[in-house]
Formats: sequence, structure tokens, C-alpha cells
Amino acid sequence: MSALSDNQQQCKPSTVNLSDAEWKKKLTSKQYRILRQKDTEYPGTGEYNKHFEIGIYKCAGCGQELYDSSTKFDSHCGWPAFSSSIDTSVRRQMDVDGYREEILCANCDGHLGHVFRGEGLRDVNGKIIQERHCVNSVSLKFDKKQ
Ligand SMILES: [Zn+2]
Repeated sequence: MSALSDNQQQCKPSTVNLSDAEWKKKLTSKQYRILRQKDTEYPGTGEYNKHFEIGIYKCAGCGQELYDSSTKFDSHCGWPAFSSSIDTSVRRQMDVDGYREEILCANCDGHLGHVFRGEGLRDVNGKIIQERHCVNSVSLKFDKKQ
């Protein structure tokens, strides 16, 4: 990792520490491209974009619980959107582009997507949504509530 990750020590340190080769073996090529190389899936193509079942969305890399389905909403942006994450399971850092805020799995540092604020979006109850966690479907693995 770059020197940037040394500046992130105030955040919860990653507990999964696989080498690049090990990640390559563990993940599908699509998961590897997005989780480890911070690529983005094409809008509207993701498995969970229009997915509204009840359950938990986990990290596709390490299985950590990231988002509860109760926080998911339809943002019409082409990617799964959540208004908040589960506790401290999601870590934030400045994106390399210098203006967006990147979100990562706090457990394995897998790239999830970005957080956007102040878009004036409303949830199904008409309540203003403060933040939109814009997450790649590929970074997630859904666990349906039994
Ligand atoms: Zn993870």
C-alpha cells in the first residue's frame, strides 16, 4: 500500500492482510478489479441495484457485515444506495481524485464505492437522506434474513 494508508491509522486498522496474489486467487476477476483495484461497475448492471429483499449486505471480500437492507433506498443512480452503514464496518478516506470520499470495508480495505452528501434525496417516508453510500454490487454479498 501507499504512504496514504499510514495516515489512516487513527481509523480501525484492517484485520485481513492478504497479499495481492492471494486476493487474486480468492476473488473473481470482476471482484478483484473493483475491490482491490477500485474499479467501478457499469451503472444499472449490478446484481443489487434494484434489489430490495430483507437481510444483510456483507463484504464480498471478507464477509464482514456492511449494510442492513433497512437503510437501502432507490436512488435511481444505477448503483445500490444506502443511507448509513452498520456501525464502524465502513471506513472513509479521500479518493485519489482529491474530491470524492471513498468508502472501504474497514476489515479488509476492499473498495466499496463513494459517499455523497447534500443531494436532497428523500427516503420512502419523505425524510431527507443525509448521505448516499453509493456501492458497487460486486463488492457486496447479500445474506437474506431467514
Ligand atoms: Zn471486507
